[in-house]
Amino acid sequence: MDTEQARERLIAERDRLTQVRDAATRLSTPAQETAERELSSADQHPAEQATETLERELDLGVLQSVESELTEVQAGLERVEAGTYGICEICKKPIAEGRLEAMPAARYCVEDQAKAAKANRG
Ligand SMILES: [Zn+2]
Repeated sequence: MDTEQARERLIAERDRLTQVRDAATRLSTPAQETAERELSSADQHPAEQATETLERELDLGVLQSVESELTEVQAGLERVEAGTYGICEICKKPIAEGRLEAMPAARYCVEDQAKAAKANRG
């Protein structure tokens, strides 16, 4: 694994996620202002209200997942600096190149990621 390439890939991913986060933040802010305005108006339509609540929850869901992805990318950059990037944290074997291309912040190899996902599901 080329360290410089890994760093560039992670920085590109961080930039992309930061843009998504900013876009999600812009989307969720006007929704809140609308909700506050509507609280003072007497004839609210319950269905419209429910839709707006759902939209806000989706925005928050996007923000939360982008924030956690950004944390992972940052951790990946730290592993590049530490010289442990591309090494599975569980079995200590190299993670496949194709997997790192698709998921630059991957901590685990495909096998251990599958085991971890299974464990999380209970
Ligand atoms: Zn592994």
